[in-house]
Amino acid sequence: MSERFFLATPPGAGHALLEGDEARHLSRVLRAKVGDEVRVFDGSGVEWPATVAAIRRDEVAVDLGEPLQSVEAKLARLTLAVALPKGDRQKWLVEKLTELGVARLLPLVTERGVAEATDSARARMERGVVEACKQCGRNRLMEIAEPLTLEALAAGFPAAVRLIAHPGSATALAGRIGDPDQEILAAVGPEGGFSADEIAAAVAAGFTPVGLGPQILRVETAAIALAARLVMAPE
Ligand code: SAM
Repeated sequence: MSERFFLATPPGAGHALLEGDEARHLSRVLRAKVGDEVRVFDGSGVEWPATVAAIRRDEVAVDLGEPLQSVEAKLARLTLAVALPKGDRQKWLVEKLTELGVARLLPLVTERGVAEATDSARARMERGVVEACKQCGRNRLMEIAEPLTLEALAAGFPAAVRLIAHPGSATALAGRIGDPDQEILAAVGPEGGFSADEIAAAVAAGFTPVGLGPQILRVETAAIALAARLVMAPE
């Protein structure tokens, strides 16, 4: 069985417990038996081959093999601050940014924003991150950060490279910039765009406005275009 399962609780020495939906999926949907081989990860960057040791009502105990190193350590650390879209487009955004290796998604509070990052929305996004990690093989979870305004982001979020995506900017973002080990922060505005005041304040705080081509992209497309250009692909 090559499926991957998420450990909500970090493993002990050589053993781990799958709980809740993860345990039920393995025992009831896949009808696992003691001795079956699976793969597990705890979101910290490590994956283990594991053997089912015991199946109980709502948990499955597994014995862990040697941990496998993750390739994500080689990726640039990109924080994307995004004025969230709503509904399925938000779900899609989380899935694709997780697959592309974005380190952190920060819900950006803007003048023209349409979706609030409520606690339930953040919980939903965190579940989306786990699902995308299980599917794509990523072992370190993409963090869903606390929402911030552009002003708070500029004041309290140090990053060597600060970009703000804005249509018609003089600087076109063609590909990777900065050193691979630098923290990169990039902001994407809402469907109505950033206001002139927001752009001026961001520029004053050291953000470089960047263009992503002549077309006006939806929020999630712009975020994905930034991620694809800024996160270095592993060798
Ligand atoms: N009419 C709005 C404007 O001119 O800003 C369009 C906003 S667009 C639908 C949503 C966000 O995606 C923008 O605020 C920007 O951050 C990003 N974006 C979309 N297309 C872009 C492009 N071609 N270049 C840079 N950023 C873009």
